[in-house]
Amino acid sequence: MEVLVVGGGIGGLTLALCLYRAGISCRIYEAAPAMRPLGVGINVLPHASKELARLGLELELTRASVLTREAVFFNRFGQLIYREPLGRFAGYDDPQYSIHRGELQLVLFEAASKRLGADRISTGWKCIGIEQDASGATALFNDAVSGHALPPQRGDVVVACDGLHSIIRKQLHPDEGPPLYSGVNMWRGVSVWAPILTGASMIRAGWLANGKMVIYPIRNDVDSQGRQLVNWVAELATTRYKQRDWSRPGDINDFIGAFKDWHFDWLDVPALLTAAETILEFPMVDQEPLQWWTRGRVTLLGDAAHPMYPRGSNGAGQAILDARALSDALVANTNPTEALKAYEAQRLPFTAEVVRINRTNPPDAILREVYERTGDQPFEHVEDVISQKELAAVSEGYKRVAGFDKPSLAAATGEVPGK
Ligand SMILES: Cc1cc2nc3c(=O)[nH]c(=O)nc-3n(C[C@H](O)[C@H](O)[C@H](O)COP(=O)(O)OP(=O)(O)OC[C@H]3O[C@@H](n4cnc5c(N)ncnc54)[C@H](O)[C@@H]3O)c2cc1C
Repeated sequence: MEVLVVGGGIGGLTLALCLYRAGISCRIYEAAPAMRPLGVGINVLPHASKELARLGLELELTRASVLTREAVFFNRFGQLIYREPLGRFAGYDDPQYSIHRGELQLVLFEAASKRLGADRISTGWKCIGIEQDASGATALFNDAVSGHALPPQRGDVVVACDGLHSIIRKQLHPDEGPPLYSGVNMWRGVSVWAPILTGASMIRAGWLANGKMVIYPIRNDVDSQGRQLVNWVAELATTRYKQRDWSRPGDINDFIGAFKDWHFDWLDVPALLTAAETILEFPMVDQEPLQWWTRGRVTLLGDAAHPMYPRGSNGAGQAILDARALSDALVANTNPTEALKAYEAQRLPFTAEVVRINRTNPPDAILREVYERTGDQPFEHVEDVISQKELAAVSEGYKRVAGFDKPSLAAATGEVPGK
């Protein structure tokens, strides 16, 4: 069995590591000419960190990240709405990591290079399409820089891990339109800053209509004063839309106005934003869940299969779970087409639910409820607006759908969610 993995992002690299662990041969083809740490901070939740620990990466990830301690929700006046512990601090076996997306990709890339051998990872290979017949599948490539054709590559299976703008998804579903814009734009940056609250708090504040912030540290002790790298995301409802790219620069003047009065006793938000060295801009997009991912020997994984709004810290996590499920299916079925079908049957319906709940009731629905019930005004006591029980129910409901509620994880005994 030889698996061709198209795309060396979080999903593709995790798949390669899972296949290696299962004793299945694979090769990775990545369009970027070199692995560069793109993007900004992301969170890896316990369902995905469990899989990464299984791949022996816990030590490297712990070194490169902050182990997240709690989620805290505030209104735009800086008043506390809800607080809950996260990861190991909430009693999970595995941590929640807050980490730079590029660092996570590098940890995976270095492990894959060491284990598979660097010659099994080709960079600068841009896939332009696939072909298949009864005995195998062929991926077609151009040199990403010169545009010249590279030799076609043949294997038993091709897995499209080529992200949101997947060329293979487009070939399988030619009538699907471009990604769907949610009406919310995001600006993200990283600032060197003194620890905020516990120094490992994931903060969400405000609401999308007139400005929401997500703030969390992604690296400890970056200077002699014990400051951290703090990742922040400004989210704003707007008709502005530019196609998603991991490195599109953003302009602070396009959004800082929404946060100009956010001077809280626990954080001066405009000062944090102004301290960022670089700012990136991303539209919040997803796609309607597909009816199918697999044709014969070709299937989709990660964002290529189920792009979702990044409102529940789950896109990369679900890509990691896909990787484990596909590798298990290839071990369990000697017939590759049956294996891909089994993988799809397990993961497609499950991830479609995550795409949907990210539109309607992700964890930040807590902020929407308070925004609507207060008419966007400060409150005297949050209990007069919404009970802590109701808030906990929003959070627990999301965890159940995304597969990281404690009972599901405890009962999983080595299997990934779905079925
Ligand atoms: C702003 C933002 C914040 C997010 N925050 C979180 C979070 O907190 N937690 C979380 O779990 N998820 C988060 N996500 C989602 C997460 O980053 C993605 O779901 C995840 O990166 C998907 O991994 P992937 O490997 O499928 O795709 P990608 O990481 O996009 O990787 C795709 C790879 O394929 C390569 N490629 C593309 N086209 C080709 C081609 N034609 N040939 C060969 N290679 C190709 C690309 O260069 C890239 O390396 C966030 C996303 C965004 C945009």
